[in-house]
Amino acid sequence: MVEGRKQIAILGSTGSIGTQALDVIEANPLLFEVQVLTAQNNVELLASQALKFKPKAVVIGKESAYEGLKQVLAGTGIQVLAGAKALEEVVQYPEIDIVLTALVGYAGLLPTVKAIESGKHIALANKETLVVAGALIMPLAEKHGVQILPVDSEHSAIFQCLVGENYQEIEKIILTASGGPFRGYSNDRLQKVTKEQALKHPNWSMGAKITIDSASLMNKGLEVIEAKWLFGLEADQIEVIVHPQSIIHSLVQFTDGSMKAQMGLPDMKLPIQYALAYPNRISSDFPRFNFANYPSLHFEQADMSTFRNLNLAYEALKKGGNLACMLNAANEIAVELFLQNKISFLQIAELNEFCMQKGTFIANPTLEDYVRTDEEVRGIAVRYKV
Ligand code: NAD
Ligand code: MG
Repeated sequence: MVEGRKQIAILGSTGSIGTQALDVIEANPLLFEVQVLTAQNNVELLASQALKFKPKAVVIGKESAYEGLKQVLAGTGIQVLAGAKALEEVVQYPEIDIVLTALVGYAGLLPTVKAIESGKHIALANKETLVVAGALIMPLAEKHGVQILPVDSEHSAIFQCLVGENYQEIEKIILTASGGPFRGYSNDRLQKVTKEQALKHPNWSMGAKITIDSASLMNKGLEVIEAKWLFGLEADQIEVIVHPQSIIHSLVQFTDGSMKAQMGLPDMKLPIQYALAYPNRISSDFPRFNFANYPSLHFEQADMSTFRNLNLAYEALKKGGNLACMLNAANEIAVELFLQNKISFLQIAELNEFCMQKGTFIANPTLEDYVRTDEEVRGIAVRYKV
């Protein structure tokens, strides 16, 4: 460990965000060092990352893969751990300055809580943590003097627009959405779309779950909720506009009517790097925007009645309590079932709504309540009749 370099833990280092974060770190060896790398299943990639970046510890989620990983890393001095509980331990290591949460879904919640409680700044890719428990996470971060630095491109855009501004002077924010592969589709057409079509995102190459969420507009719904907590806004201050080219990453409108947008080519390395280097900017050779390639930028309204997930997210946001936690758990199961060809694309939103109606509403949930709600809804989701 070299004094003065930011010490980083990456939860989910083998995924789309995790590997791009390692590219950023590799390109800036004088600024960053890796202390912890973790993955769920991919032992080979995790092992090769560990051999290259020499962290203090690695965690493999799948316990049956522990022995194999331990053998590959024998003699390196790298600690090897396994299982979900180990994530909650490693984020607390005293060497760590910042934890990049690049794992998928609800699994991010408890490690993020532990990281905040031990005073680590959070570079937050795992939006599900704020969707499930934003009401708890944001005050916890404030209590421990911890920054929550958004990695999600839209939220990074808004965060960048707000540098030097007073949050009280935000009138509203406008999140841009690419619209996904099914933009403009009618309900009829959506009835027949396949998993293969849904997995082809027009602008971004991402993990399977967020790619399906982008096709169903659930991702934008989750981002509306994420924005509420990050920037302290009400539901009616958060708008969504479809912008298929993904050049404007999002906008803020202030109380005097002035608007600021953050723009650039779609490349997740930029918001990842911004979060890791904050409050500094690092020079990069990422491809630059060229006006000649974009003679016009296009915008259209989001179709909330066809893409019902976005509506469900607003509903969860307005009613509050543990409703967004219900929606998130339902959606994780729905996406899994869709990827296994067990439900159709339109049934994702149906299952989500079904679970939001059947779950036990709690107005002021504690951390334990969120854990119980997630469990309850996963039970309800499997009772959904196709
Ligand atoms: P991914 O599927 O490519 O990678 C997920 C990583 O998390 C992998 O390393 C995997 O091993 C690990 N993981 C998966 N399930 C786990 C579990 N239950 N416990 C512990 N680790 C687990 O996903 P991704 O696309 O990199 O997305 C990661 C997070 O970042 C998500 O919350 C996503 O919404 C968010 N995000 C991603 C992008 C993007 O461009 N990929 C953009 C914005 C936000
Ligand atoms: Mg996003």
